[in-house]
Amino acid sequence: MIFKNIPLGKYNTFGLNYKAEFMIQIETEEEATDIFHKNNTLKKPLLILGGGSNILFTSDYRGTILYPQIGGMKVEKEEADNGYIIVSAGAGVNWDDFVAWSVNEGFGGIENLSLIPGKAGATPVQNIGAYGVEVKESILRVKTINISDGSVRIFRNDECAFGYRNSIFKNSEKGKYLVTRVYYKLSVKPLLNLSYESLKEEVNKLGETTLKNVRQAVINIRRSKLPDPEITGNAGSFFKNPVVKNSVAEVLQNEFPGMPVYRDTEGYSKLASGWLIDQCGWKGKRYGDAGVHEKQALVLVNYGKATGIEIYGLSEDIKKSVLDKFGIRLEREVEVVGVI
Ligand SMILES: Cc1cc2nc3c(=O)[nH]c(=O)nc-3n(C[C@H](O)[C@H](O)[C@H](O)COP(=O)(O)OP(=O)(O)OC[C@H]3O[C@@H](n4cnc5c(N)ncnc54)[C@H](O)[C@@H]3O)c2cc1C
Repeated sequence: MIFKNIPLGKYNTFGLNYKAEFMIQIETEEEATDIFHKNNTLKKPLLILGGGSNILFTSDYRGTILYPQIGGMKVEKEEADNGYIIVSAGAGVNWDDFVAWSVNEGFGGIENLSLIPGKAGATPVQNIGAYGVEVKESILRVKTINISDGSVRIFRNDECAFGYRNSIFKNSEKGKYLVTRVYYKLSVKPLLNLSYESLKEEVNKLGETTLKNVRQAVINIRRSKLPDPEITGNAGSFFKNPVVKNSVAEVLQNEFPGMPVYRDTEGYSKLASGWLIDQCGWKGKRYGDAGVHEKQALVLVNYGKATGIEIYGLSEDIKKSVLDKFGIRLEREVEVVGVI
């Protein structure tokens, strides 16, 4: 179904009401194949939009937005004897509905990723992560359709080049494939990951250490810390946590005692962007309706009538002050779409 001049307010979690020149709602894989066979008739540029929970629009979109609504979550293959099961979700399935379904069925592996906004189709693109778990650990394969000719391509996990909030779909293959269905390998005898102390404490408060309680604990923590985009527009963490050489982290820690540093891969450490931003005095600051959340400095918010440009401007000023104070160049996690 093709729509023209669509207001985008309800299609992005910042609630920014720019317009899209064209939007094509794609309900099935067959429909996607048909549309991409006729790729040359689509008004360019093209943008694939999931739940719009990691996108900052800064102007009207003069091109075509592809909006996959492919549904269905199902068990593909039971390998209970081997301790796992393969399940799949269509690109348009709400991610948290899928997590809730999996947990109710007793399938483990993605419970720590409860309540992350967005659609299943974006999970391999973003390699979403929270509370010590990344979705790459559960993704078996990703079914896609090539936008330039409508052909189907299936990426195995090891072909997705997963990294921290990163994948092949954000790099060399960016914008080339529409993810239509994602296959996850979940465990039927859940191996719970309570490596985050705060999560362990919250689970203990709830009683038994079960799959359902881990999901509930994640939900409780997230609700207490993060603004609900239905009420206050935001896109979660605006910046990635910087990864630096251990030697850089040590120098900074000597200069700024109390600075949190986490182990990353061999020889590298991860710093906490939220802490760096907070130390620069940004928490709770506002430029009109564009602001830094008062509880979590990593989250930029739209208090009502902010424009994408204002939020972008705020993010640039934050980047500058973190660079001036710590010599660290923050990288945006949120994708900026539009004219800046
Ligand atoms: C309150 C809040 C909390 C959040 N917490 C977390 C968190 O804990 N961890 C985390 O990792 N993220 C978090 N996020 C960010 C966001 O929810 C994730 O990045 C999510 O996966 C984005 O999904 P989406 O469907 O909204 O994708 P969109 O924002 O619409 O798109 C993101 C990218 O994926 C591409 N894309 C989307 N769908 C497809 C598809 N079917 N095929 C190909 N490309 C596609 C888009 O083109 C774009 O490049 C949070 C966001 C909010 C608002």
